[in-house]
Amino acid sequence: MSKTRGIVGSRLCFHSLLITHYSSRMAKLSIKDLDLKGKRIFIRVDFNVPVKDGTVDDDTRIRASLPTIQYSVDQGARVILASHLGRPKGERVEKYSLTPVAEHLSKVLGKPVAFAADCIGDEAESKVAAMKDGDVLLLENLRFHKEEEENEEAFAQQLAALCDFYVNDAFGAAHRAHASTAGITKFVVKAAAGLLMQKELEYLGRVISSPEHPFVAILGGAKVSDKIPVINALIDRKVDKILIGGAMAYTFFKAEGFTVGKSLVENDMLQTALEIKNRAEAEQVELLLPTDHQVVDSYEPIKGDKIVAKTIPIEFTNAGHAGMDIGVESVSHFSNALCDARTIIWNGPMGVFEEPPFNEGTIGIAKAVAEAADRGATVIVGGGDSVAAVTQAGVADRITHISTGGGATLEFLAGEKLPGVAALNDKP
Ligand code: AMP
Repeated sequence: MSKTRGIVGSRLCFHSLLITHYSSRMAKLSIKDLDLKGKRIFIRVDFNVPVKDGTVDDDTRIRASLPTIQYSVDQGARVILASHLGRPKGERVEKYSLTPVAEHLSKVLGKPVAFAADCIGDEAESKVAAMKDGDVLLLENLRFHKEEEENEEAFAQQLAALCDFYVNDAFGAAHRAHASTAGITKFVVKAAAGLLMQKELEYLGRVISSPEHPFVAILGGAKVSDKIPVINALIDRKVDKILIGGAMAYTFFKAEGFTVGKSLVENDMLQTALEIKNRAEAEQVELLLPTDHQVVDSYEPIKGDKIVAKTIPIEFTNAGHAGMDIGVESVSHFSNALCDARTIIWNGPMGVFEEPPFNEGTIGIAKAVAEAADRGATVIVGGGDSVAAVTQAGVADRITHISTGGGATLEFLAGEKLPGVAALNDKP
């Protein structure tokens, strides 16, 4: 097996459609264009954070929206915050209540945060009516109402009735046309982007429109099927290299006739994997797969110390092996592939990151992208596991931009229109 595939390609111009798409995004009204003094402003935030035993376990997403919230408070707005948490599927489910988030936000914001036990109706209306300039109110989980995900008009209208202006700061939810991300905008005077939303669009937009080369994409995670549009768009955009790790890699290996044993494979994507590989070759994009991996003989989801893992070359995989993580040699190959990179995007873990020792490959890549950033590369990391990896590796502050979106980041990079962005007003 060859260790790397493809050859480095020439740099051509960008897809004109994508540039148009990008420029239209940049023309969105900003929160800074609004006169906020004394106004009720409804900010759709993404507070979909992990909550354990009634406390917030990781507040990255909360902190990411602090600049928008603080700016609104400083301007004397009456700040109404709304978010989803988990998948309560239209029912009131206590474990998905935003109550712990209100408490946590109050601590990190350094001021009281009121809480309304419902996002519409008398409770929300009376709490909003009692607000003074600079006050902050968090509404209960939007998804306790099925109308939120259905983008139901009457529900969107009820949300809109709470405010004078609407601001979307929830980049992570912008790929969904829900009542609080899209429908609401039809019933408000002005709909603008928050500071986090603007920052996301700026960094990701730059990657789409004018990436500095060499441009390298690192993709991991479970499914090839989730990432086909982004892989194709990256090839269109003349990315120089695509590094593929995680379970995704096994679909490529199996398609090429390698034994992958019990590793996770998408059998209905084998043909697609071959097509991607051929397209990359034709477009002179280098596609790199791991050369070794950590395997177990029989994988049961048992905890760390009971797992006996070994690292072997990919070609030594037998029918009983399940591949769980990329090996040290692959980390080193992938790191070398980043050595002259000027732009790097990374989405998806290199292995079963949740279960050490299968987080080692992902942590290794986290360190490698941080080193590339130290050398001056623009490094954008998105997706829950990759973001957790840069935090665990202690390198988060060296990354150029940590995107709060997973699916939204991928859809944006694939050149798709995000409903939550498209629905905002254009700048005059
Ligand atoms: P995705 O949502 O597609 O980014 O996939 C993330 C998931 O991929 C994580 O839960 C990982 O545990 C899983 N994953 C990554 N590598 C592997 C692997 N080699 N085998 C099984 N699952 C994996």
